[in-house]
Amino acid sequence: MNKRVLKTKVAMVSAEVDPFAKTGGLGDVVGSLPAALNKVHCNSIVIMPLYGSISKSYKDIMKNLGYIYIDLGWRHQYCGIFTLKRQGVTYYFLDNEFYFDRGAIYDEMDLEKFSFLSLAAFEVLKYIKFKPNIIHIHDWHTGVMAALLHDYYHYDEFFKDTKCVYTIHNLAYQGVFNKFDVLDLLPLNRSKYDNTNTINYMALGIIYADRVTTVSMSYANEILSQSYGEGLQNLLNHESNKLSGILNGINEKIYNPSNDKLIYQKYEKSNYIAGKLINKRCLFKDIGFNEDEANDTILIGVISRLVSQKGLDLLLPIMESLLTKKIKFVVLGTGNKNIEESFKNIAANHSDKFKALIKFDNATAHKLYAACDLLLVPSLFEPCGLTQMIALEYGTIPLVRECGGLKDSIVPFNEYTNVGNGFSFKNYDSNDLYNTILYAISIYERKDKWNNIISNGFECDFSWTSSALKYKELYESIK
Ligand code: ADP
Repeated sequence: MNKRVLKTKVAMVSAEVDPFAKTGGLGDVVGSLPAALNKVHCNSIVIMPLYGSISKSYKDIMKNLGYIYIDLGWRHQYCGIFTLKRQGVTYYFLDNEFYFDRGAIYDEMDLEKFSFLSLAAFEVLKYIKFKPNIIHIHDWHTGVMAALLHDYYHYDEFFKDTKCVYTIHNLAYQGVFNKFDVLDLLPLNRSKYDNTNTINYMALGIIYADRVTTVSMSYANEILSQSYGEGLQNLLNHESNKLSGILNGINEKIYNPSNDKLIYQKYEKSNYIAGKLINKRCLFKDIGFNEDEANDTILIGVISRLVSQKGLDLLLPIMESLLTKKIKFVVLGTGNKNIEESFKNIAANHSDKFKALIKFDNATAHKLYAACDLLLVPSLFEPCGLTQMIALEYGTIPLVRECGGLKDSIVPFNEYTNVGNGFSFKNYDSNDLYNTILYAISIYERKDKWNNIISNGFECDFSWTSSALKYKELYESIK
């Protein structure tokens, strides 16, 4: 038989998969990549936890395939298996309320629940008789699967030819645990850990996967350095021959102003000026800004986890000065309590110009993408970043710091050549951010220039197809 016509069988395993469970970009990526892969002649499936928080509308259409038991240390744990098919992808949900019906996705039980997910995923693949060419795992939560495959499941006839791809979405979260706790739970080769007190799940993914990817080319280079390597730079340099970067795409069905049910008024890209203005006016009314100012006042937005990674400590010191300008400003996010409080205080003192929406709310995020003029992403580091690409789909111009995926997706506007899809600054410095925002405001006042940037943004192709082809090529290159 001609080998080339066989589809590569890929099993994705992840803690987050949109639309079932998402706290950030990881969910977006694993929610979109499998469908894109299946369109380029792969056969990919997804395995994830059946969280209690998954919407009832999905739970109602899931089929129960049965159950197995997983031995996790001394615990003999039930694992129900549910499935549903969506947009050409079959999803398998692992049911165990003790681990996955706890309220938040991440909490103090992370070690045990994601060890359960990692071990159970292998057994579920056997149960559903899906023999993957590739197990594609994501972030620290499933990094240990690379070691489990290497130390244990490769000796199982079912997985003897299976290869492993590990994608780092964010090196800052590594999953570092006491080694005795880990070795109590999982069948790893104990002798390898004689000289260490801890086991790092992110590091296991890097060491034992056949290929390691990160979500942009620039981040793949940056993490080899001390400034971005989060302590793993030596290991990454050692393994650099199997490391590469593939830029994420965005789901253009979800982030499409002409078909977005979550925004106030849908609009075509060809008619974005009128469309955005309606959305801006409605948002102003909703959050308590003077609607009449929507027409000629720039609306600057932040849609972000409120954590130090996102560069908000650059923004806070310049807020008072910025608010003396003719602007409106809205922040949507949750995270670090100090950052949340700082934004709430600014809002209390400048309610006519500044709003702090301290929540994680998808519908509000969509409304902001449609209504804002400028979106700030001044990150300290950014593996890929999706908000800047999403913004461009809505005719909202990103202002970013030049790092990671922000650097790979945003070209700073040159007012003389009219090239560029956003604004950027290089140094992690409040003054540089401030000056770049002032420059953006000055361009906003020159509508022809502003509209040039928006058109340039609309022309960018951030669809998943080109990224999916790169992953497919990578899978097929592993011997
Ligand atoms: P990260 O994964 O580091 O959080 P990304 O830019 O890769 O950052 O992805 C962020 C995703 O989460 C985007 O889809 C963005 O719209 C969404 N998001 C961020 N903050 C919020 C929020 N407060 N409410 C709703 N969605 C949010």
